[in-house]
Amino acid sequence: MAKEILFGAVPAVLIFMMFLGINIGPFLLFGAVLAGILFFFSRQTGMGGFKTRSKAGKHAVVKTDVQFSDIGGQERAKRELKEALDFLIHKDSLEKYGIRPIKGVLLTGPPGTGKTLMAKAAANYTNSAFVAASGSQFVEMYVGVGAQRVRDLFREVKQLAERNGQDSGIIFIDEIDVIGGKRDGQQQREYDQTLNQLLTEMDGITTSDNPRILLIAATNRKDMLDSALLRPGRFDRHISVDLPDKKARIQILKIHTANKPLASDVNVERIAQETFGFSGAQLESVANEAAIYAMREGAEKITGQHFELAVDKVMMGEKSDREASDEEKRRVALHELGHAIVSERVRPGSVSQVTLSPRGQALGYVRQNPMEDRYLYTKEALEKQIMVCLGGAVAEEIYFGGRSTGSKNDFEQALSMAQEIVQSGMSELGIVHLQYIDKTQVHEEVNRILEDLVERTRKLLQAHDEVFAGSLRILWDQEVLSGDSFRDMLKKIQPVEELAV
Ligand code: ATP
Repeated sequence: MAKEILFGAVPAVLIFMMFLGINIGPFLLFGAVLAGILFFFSRQTGMGGFKTRSKAGKHAVVKTDVQFSDIGGQERAKRELKEALDFLIHKDSLEKYGIRPIKGVLLTGPPGTGKTLMAKAAANYTNSAFVAASGSQFVEMYVGVGAQRVRDLFREVKQLAERNGQDSGIIFIDEIDVIGGKRDGQQQREYDQTLNQLLTEMDGITTSDNPRILLIAATNRKDMLDSALLRPGRFDRHISVDLPDKKARIQILKIHTANKPLASDVNVERIAQETFGFSGAQLESVANEAAIYAMREGAEKITGQHFELAVDKVMMGEKSDREASDEEKRRVALHELGHAIVSERVRPGSVSQVTLSPRGQALGYVRQNPMEDRYLYTKEALEKQIMVCLGGAVAEEIYFGGRSTGSKNDFEQALSMAQEIVQSGMSELGIVHLQYIDKTQVHEEVNRILEDLVERTRKLLQAHDEVFAGSLRILWDQEVLSGDSFRDMLKKIQPVEELAV
C-alpha cells in the first residue's frame, strides 16, 4: 500500500517542482540510482517473495533434524521412500549401469498423516539440502511469477547444497495439486506456465548433476493431477501415506507422550483403540490437549481422564455453552441412547461413553470403541452399522412420534453404506454396474434395505424401555454415562431371542 502511495506521490511532486521552475534532473538521476540499488537487494534477499524462515533465500529453508524413527507407523511408506532415496545416495552405481535417476516422489494421503515429516526425514537420511514450498505459494495474480518462483526454487536448493558442501538437495512441494491440476487448455494460463516450468526443470535433472536434485511432492488429491506430472521420468514413484492402524497409533502416541509425565493409569493401547480413524496430527493433538488439561488442573501427572477429555475435544471440538431447552435435551439424550443401545446389542462392549453436553456442533454424543481396524465388510457387518446409525432417529420416533433434523448426518452415513451394499453386489439386485442400471431401481433397493433395517431397529429398541429410562436419569443428572454402567443396565434385560442381531 505504502509503495503505491509513493509511486503516485513522487511524479506529482516532481511535476509541481517543474512548475516552480526547479531543475529536477539531479533528482531524477538520484531516483534512478536508488531504484537500481533497491531492485538489486530485493533479488538478493527475496523481498516480496515467499515467507522466509532463514536467510538463505525466498523459500522455507528448513533445518531439519527429523529422523525416520520419529515417524510412527507408516512402515511400508518409509521402506518405499528409503528405496527411492538410495538412488540419491548411490549415484555412482546409477551412472555405471546407465540408470535414469528418480526425479520425483509423490506422497499421497489424507491430511496430517506425516507426509511433510517424511520429506524432512528423507533430507536428513540423505544429508541433503532441504527447501520446502506449498503449491498455493505459486499462485499469483501476475502471469509468469509462478514460473519464476519455480526457477528460484531449483536455484536456491542448489545454492544451499553448495554452501553446505552437500551433494544432493531435496525440494518439497506440499499441495502440488494446486499447480499440478489437470490442464484444460483454456483460461488457466498462469497455472499452466508454472506447471510447464516445473516439468522443464524436472526434465533438466540428469544423473551427472552435482548437486543432484530430488523433488518430493505431497497431495491428497492424486486424481486431480495432470498426467504429464505422473508419467515415467517425472513423479513416477507414488507412495501412499495412509491413516495409521492401531499398531501405528500406539507408536505415534508413544512418540508424542515420550516427553510428558504420564500417570500410571494411562493406557496407551486403550487410547489407540478409541482413536480409530485419527491421523498422526490428531494423535499429536490428543497428547498435547491432555497435557494442557493436566496443567490447567495443576496436576502432577497427566491421567487417563485427561486423555479421555482430550480425545473428546479432538473428535468433537471444544465444549460450547449452547443452552438447549429441556425438551431439546431430552430428545438429544434419547436419540444418543438409541444409538448406544443398538451399538451395544449388535457389538457388545462397543460403547465407551454417552455424553449429554454440547461440544462442537453436537448437543450430545456416543463415543464408540472400535474393536479392530477393518478393511473388508460383510453385508451383515454393514447392516449392523446402518442400524447403529438409524438408532437415534428410531428412538425419537418411539418417544416423540417423529424425527428431527438431528438425524441428517446419520441418514447420510446410512445411505452411503446401503449404496455400498448395492454396489458390492450384496443386495437383491445381484451384481450390478451403476452405469447400466436404472437409477430408480437402485434408489428403490437402497430404500428397501433402509426401511427393513428401520423396522428391525424399532423392534430392538422397543424392548428397551427400562434402559432408556434409567440411562436418561443418569445423563440428566451427571451429563455422562460410562460404558460400564450402561452395560450393567443392559444386562438386566435379556434380549428376546429373535430380536438379537
Ligand atoms: P498435510 O497434508 O495437511 O500437509 P501432512 O501429511 O504433511 O499433512 P505432517 O505435516 O507431516 O502431515 O504432520 C503434522 C504433524 O502431525 C507432525 O508435525 C507430527 O507432529 C504429527 N504426525 C503426523 N503423522 C505422524 C506420524 N506418523 N508419526 C508421528 N507424528 C506424526
